[in-house]
Amino acid sequence: MEPLQELTRRQLDTLQAIGGRETDDRGVPLKLIASALRMSSPSALGHLTPLERLGLVERYRGKSRLTTKGRRTLLEYQRHHRVAETLFGRLGLAPAESCAAAREIDLAISHRTVEEVCRAQDHPAACPHGAPIAPCRTGAGRD
Ligand SMILES: [Zn+2]
Ligand SMILES: [Zn+2]
Repeated sequence: MEPLQELTRRQLDTLQAIGGRETDDRGVPLKLIASALRMSSPSALGHLTPLERLGLVERYRGKSRLTTKGRRTLLEYQRHHRVAETLFGRLGLAPAESCAAAREIDLAISHRTVEEVCRAQDHPAACPHGAPIAPCRTGAGRD
């Protein structure tokens, strides 16, 4: 199974909370992750621990950082989300609705399906909000 398909929404939120707050030389303390997620530290830890087990996050002196795999997984998530948003946008949904609809499926769909959807849409360069969509691994410009 691909890493994204193993994650719950809350685990993904946790991954994003860390990715958006860590710096080159500093990880994110649990308290800060918890406040970003608006939950208690023990609850946040409950989402953090599976991420460590999957090798997406590592903890050093009480602070969490993304691993290379974690960073790659977040980029893959962005791609899934934005390709799905673009699809819903082209079906006529407003950007906010496209975003909500994309969140219902972006963790569940496989990379392969995302690439099929991306190709069927002629490889869109940006989501409805204007955020860039990275080229398909196997095929920007393939056809
Ligand atoms: Zn969105
Ligand atoms: Zn977007």
